[in-house]
Amino acid sequence: MIIGFIGLGIMGRPMAKNLISAGYKLVVYDKFVKFDDLLALGAEGASTNRDVASRSDIIITMLPNSPHVKEAVLGPGGVIEGIKEGAIVVDMSSIAPEVSREVEAALKTKGAAFLDAPVSGGEPKAVDGTLAIMAGGDKKTFDAVKPVLEKMGSSVTLVGDTGSGNVVKLANQIIVALNIAAVSEAFVLAAKAGVDPVKVFDAIKGGLAGSTVMNAKVPMILDGNFKPGFRIELHIKDLQNALDTAHSLGVSSPLTAQVMEILQALKTDGMAANDHSAIARYYEKLAKIEVRK
Ligand code: NAD
Repeated sequence: MIIGFIGLGIMGRPMAKNLISAGYKLVVYDKFVKFDDLLALGAEGASTNRDVASRSDIIITMLPNSPHVKEAVLGPGGVIEGIKEGAIVVDMSSIAPEVSREVEAALKTKGAAFLDAPVSGGEPKAVDGTLAIMAGGDKKTFDAVKPVLEKMGSSVTLVGDTGSGNVVKLANQIIVALNIAAVSEAFVLAAKAGVDPVKVFDAIKGGLAGSTVMNAKVPMILDGNFKPGFRIELHIKDLQNALDTAHSLGVSSPLTAQVMEILQALKTDGMAANDHSAIARYYEKLAKIEVRK
């Protein structure tokens, strides 16, 4: 079995490496970044997304957003032009649920199957192969690719029909964004009140306020290290998809909208390529204090 891997950025590159380490044969491609390191590990290189598809049985995509997935799969020189009947496309990007369903419908006309399988956990878990993977699609397709997904994630869950994986990912992204904002608001208050933020972290991380987000992001904030990780511009993308989906369903999401405005302010301030832990910078600037060791 040959696995095609398209999109070798912060997440895709270590995920592809884990598949190579597990013994799979890979054909890899990225439109904008080099991938010599993967070729050195034994992967074969492709020249286009179509080329990847024509040589693969399972094609994994790990791209920024809906337009990139549409371009790479359905666009000129895209996966759909080369895909084999019976092949499976697994889109692991975080995109709008309705685009997952649109891509699936187009692939069906070629006799190919589709699964949306976005991930949570960020770069460290992509490197460790311990991502949380939430998949949408039919059970037969899920069962066929589950052993491959298990080489990249420690939890692999079929959550519903096509598009459901991305619905769950939107829920995940709302919770993460609001959690970082809450942590930032609280730590800036404590720092401004003169309490050592390291002691704040030590005192509350084991209680009810503690969270995976707090454990991952507070050390970065304390170091003033806002290197991504997960870029603010990608979280803006996710919250936009969340708000669009909410509004199309008649759901009001006031807290998501509020954090979206914080992210927009940071983008205007030139911080779009910083890690989303830089939400703390928004509060720090308003309060004229830094939460540092
Ligand atoms: P990234 O921008 O680092 O990587 C995306 C890659 O896709 C880039 O290398 C880019 O060159 C490539 N690409 C774009 N268009 C292409 C095309 N048409 N054909 C081929 N390649 C193309 O992004 P990332 O951080 O790896 O994130 C990828 C996805 O995973 C996003 O949807 C993101 O929201 C999601 N995600 C990221 C993280 C994280 O912590 N970085 C965590 C969970 C989920």
